[in-house]
Amino acid sequence: EVRTRIAPSPTGMMHLGTARTAIYCWAVARHFGGKFLLRIEDTDQERSTPEATQVILDSMKWLNLDYDNQGAVVYQMQRLPRYKEVADQLLAKGLAYWDYCTKEELDAMREAQRARGEKPRYDGRWRPERAAALGLVKPEGVKPVLRFRNPDEGEVTWNDAVYGTITVSNKELDDLIIMRADGIPTYNFAVVVDDIDMKMTHVIRGADHINNTPRQINLYRALGVEPPIFGHLPLINGPDGKKLSKRHGSVAVTEYKKAGYLPEAIFNYLARLGWGHGNMEKFSREELARVFDLADCSRAAARMDFKKLAWLNGQYMKEADDARLAGLVKERIAARGGDPESADLVKICALLKGRSQTLEDLADQAMIFFNPYSPVEADIAKSLENGGREALAALLPRLEALPEWKAPGIYAAMKAVCEEQGVKFGVIASPVRVIAVAAAKVPQIDQTLEIIGRDKVLERLRARL
Ligand code: GLU
Repeated sequence: EVRTRIAPSPTGMMHLGTARTAIYCWAVARHFGGKFLLRIEDTDQERSTPEATQVILDSMKWLNLDYDNQGAVVYQMQRLPRYKEVADQLLAKGLAYWDYCTKEELDAMREAQRARGEKPRYDGRWRPERAAALGLVKPEGVKPVLRFRNPDEGEVTWNDAVYGTITVSNKELDDLIIMRADGIPTYNFAVVVDDIDMKMTHVIRGADHINNTPRQINLYRALGVEPPIFGHLPLINGPDGKKLSKRHGSVAVTEYKKAGYLPEAIFNYLARLGWGHGNMEKFSREELARVFDLADCSRAAARMDFKKLAWLNGQYMKEADDARLAGLVKERIAARGGDPESADLVKICALLKGRSQTLEDLADQAMIFFNPYSPVEADIAKSLENGGREALAALLPRLEALPEWKAPGIYAAMKAVCEEQGVKFGVIASPVRVIAVAAAKVPQIDQTLEIIGRDKVLERLRARL
């Protein structure tokens, strides 16, 4: 069974890059009919917060990334005894050892190495045989860290699902700390123990972890477990090709929600960012799962294209269910001082969704139905010149006589007046717009009037004749 996981650290927001990784992990699992799991890597106690965990859970839910261990999310801080158990196994096998170096000693070691023009690395002085040869004695009061005894010879090779074959010489790797002095495991150790226990078949994550992978593979070997398939994803850059940051725009999933993007658009956009299949641009989750293959991921860093994202969101807005949009836009109307109950928001969404890129955009446009009625006298006077008044006078009885207040009938009435009076549509549309709607920019006038409602429209027009 194929098993993947997303393993975010709850130290802030959920980054777009994490969301994209999660989407690919999800797609691999769904493609093969396997499992997709969530693990919260909360061992950095200074930076981890429950709020950040909640943001991750909320973001996963918003993006509809349905992980298969709902209610049984793995939290690393709940697994401390397990890490200790595995660490003890390594210790017993002589594959790990206690290191009593003080911070001062480590600093001095690195400084000496730098002075010799070497890359700073732990020199393995507390490996038992070396410590004995050096005559090191355990200092009083120093809490040791546990280090993994990395192989000295040979190399580590893996066939990365995205980058292809990567080889690293063991000489490049020093003895990794696996347990800190406070008994908390380091990332590289916890991740291996967890991925083994969670029976991961694929570890898919950001390319910033490539350097960790050979160390982790050595840990797998030491534990006698075959490593999973690794696939590393290039980072996401801003439009200028530099690492994506706040400077470029939002980097947190929640900010896109706030800005009025639809989750399916973000999902689609992120999935397509750095992965491609033929000419697929707009696709559903199911389509992605059907064709997804890690081998189709790009090895080059992706570039955010905010215009394309807005366009794609507009496409999803157009297709979205009116009632759903109404539910999503309600609070945005209220935040603009409108009473969402005072007009037919579902109809308004139907009218505006095809011309809105985001929910915020839709809410802005919808305000013509919620703002207090405040016509501009100068505009009205102007609209009544040159046949406007006559056209309006002819329209009013036609509107009053309409058997039902619906856009097609309203439109037919306006059209009939134009033909009767031999004037262009604008001659009637313009006074109607500035008097009945009292807005500078108005969507289709007939539908707008339908939504404003018969009573209000007639009352406003009558007051001007
Ligand atoms: N907590 C790590 C991160 O957020 C997980 C890396 C991994 O997937 O192994 O980068």
